[in-house]
This record gives sequence, C-alpha cells and structure tokens, in this order.
Amino acid sequence: MSDVTVIGLGLMGSALARAFLAGGKSVTVWNRSPGKAAALEAAGAHAATRPADAIAASPVIVICLSDYAATGMMLGADGAWSALAGRLVLQLTSGTPNEARTFAARVQAHGGACLDGAIGAWPGQIGSPDASIVVSGPQGLFADAEPLLKLLAGNLTHMGEDIGHASAIYNAGLAYFAGHWIGFAQGAAICAAEGLDVAKFGETMSGLSPLFGEDMRAMGRIVAEGEFGNPESTLDTVHADIARLAALSGELNVSTEFPAVAAGLFARAAAAGHGREQPAAVVKVLRA
Ligand code: NAP
Repeated sequence: MSDVTVIGLGLMGSALARAFLAGGKSVTVWNRSPGKAAALEAAGAHAATRPADAIAASPVIVICLSDYAATGMMLGADGAWSALAGRLVLQLTSGTPNEARTFAARVQAHGGACLDGAIGAWPGQIGSPDASIVVSGPQGLFADAEPLLKLLAGNLTHMGEDIGHASAIYNAGLAYFAGHWIGFAQGAAICAAEGLDVAKFGETMSGLSPLFGEDMRAMGRIVAEGEFGNPESTLDTVHADIARLAALSGELNVSTEFPAVAAGLFARAAAAGHGREQPAAVVKVLRA
C-alpha cells in the first residue's frame, strides 16, 4: 500500500502528486494518457495501469480531472467504483455544488467516504503557505485528511458539512475572477491603444491590491448585513464612470462588450432607485 493515490496528472494533478512526494509520502498515480506518469515515476511515484488498481493501492484517493464527466468515465471502467469501498476520496476536480453532492452520495453507496475540495492556487503554488484549498464534508473526515491536505496548501479551510459548499465558494470566486481577467485585459487594451506600457499597468494595479482586499471585506459585510447606505462613492458615480469607460473603449477601437454589460447592470440598479446607495447595491439586480 502507498499513502495516497493521485488520479489525473494534468497540470494540477501532477503538482499535487509532486507535493505529496516532497512531503515524504509514498504515492501511486494514474493518468489516462500514460506518458504523463513518467516524470512522477522518475521522482519516486508508483504508476498503476488501471484506475481500480490505483484506488486499491492507497487508503486515500485524490481525484483531479477536468470535470465530473471525466471522473464518471474514469470510475466507470473495470470495477473502479467498487474499489472505492473503505477508501477516503478527496475530490479536487472542479464542478457544481450538486455534482459534488451526487458524486459523494455515489461514493458512499459504494462503501467509500468523500470530501470535496476547491483549489485556490496555480499549480506552481501547490505545497506553499500561500496555496489555498477550501474543503467541505464531514468534520471527522476533514480532521483525518488535514495532515495530507496541509502538504498541498498552507491555507486550508473547512467550509462545513454540506459537501456542496466548497464548490459553491469556488464558483463564487470564479465569478470574481471572470471580471478580474476580462477587466484586466480591457485595461491592457486601453493602455496599449494609448501607447502605455502594459507591464507598468500590471505593476500599478498590483500596488492597489491591499485596497482591493479591504474592498472585498467591506462588500461582503455590506451585502451580508443588507446595509447599503452611507457610501463614500455612490452607485450613480460608479455607473457614470463605467459608462464613460464604454465610450472611451469605443473611441480607442477597443471592444465595448464588457464595459457595456457592466454599465447596463449599474444602469438597471440606478433605475430601480439604488443610485444613492453603495455600489455593492448592484447585487440587488443580480438576484432572481
Ligand atoms: P488539465 O491539465 O487539462 O488536466 C486534465 C486531466 O483530466 C488530465 O489528467 C486528463 O487526462 C484528465 N481527463 C480528462 N478527461 C478525462 C477522461 N474522460 N477520463 C480520464 N481522464 C480524463 O487540467 P488541470 O489544470 O490539471 O485541472 C484539473 C482540475 O483542477 C480541474 O477541475 C480544474 O478546474 C482544477 N483546477 C486547476 C487549476 C489550475 O491552475 N490548473 C486551479 C484550480 C483548480 P489526459 O492527460 O489523458 O488528457
């Protein structure tokens, strides 16, 4: 028996397996395309030829595949589902909260136990104190898995017993990052059109990151408490700024799609009477 099995050796799964090896664990790996196991074998891992054998090799099974459909295909082969009996599965594949709940129920039906995790780190950060993993599922299982998970991420959070909640927070974070990635690219295109050094734009924005952190904390409190009064900058002001950004983008021959969507949401919130409130009041037009 090895200490842990890692199934899926893509960019993230390979980083997870390497971090376990660096932490002194014996590791079994499996990947659909066998070539990806070679580098890990050279680093000391044992490569199994079938998912069922990889699962049989360790008490703890880490799965990190593209999605839940891939997980289903992998476990559908050669009695792999049945091999999960008595195993603790750490499902680190991204999905939706209901996919996590359905998967955990199926693992339990086969006699296994399951935690769901969402990774908040790039592969190069895995194993560092900055890497973050949010886990949900039974507290007792989390306590069992914690020493192994700590080898992957210094910043480990148990989100509670509802196994869907790690995935919920991952998707909530993804909503933020969708805006971050497109917003940065929009800014980069504006800088380039104005003849500015885009690398300097990145440095400037990075300098503002402590303020963003404080803004996220404040927005979380404002929305949770439903207290949208006393803004330092009103929703109307933010709406006017973003409408101007859309116009500027058009002038510079940069796409207006993203600022137009943002301006449209703020316009809707202003029309609904929230113009003198906190910009966070835009959440009121996002709720069905
Ligand atoms: P990736 O490099 O594209 O690797 C995907 C893995 O899934 C490969 O091992 C691939 O096998 C396997 N796979 C896909 N379809 C399969 C199937 N039908 N049967 C068996 N195996 C299958 O992706 P990744 O970056 O490692 O991401 C893996 C998971 O980690 C995703 O859920 C992702 O959201 C999550 N994640 C990644 C990052 C990141 O920065 N990369 C960050 C946070 C979370 P082959 O090698 O045979 O194609």
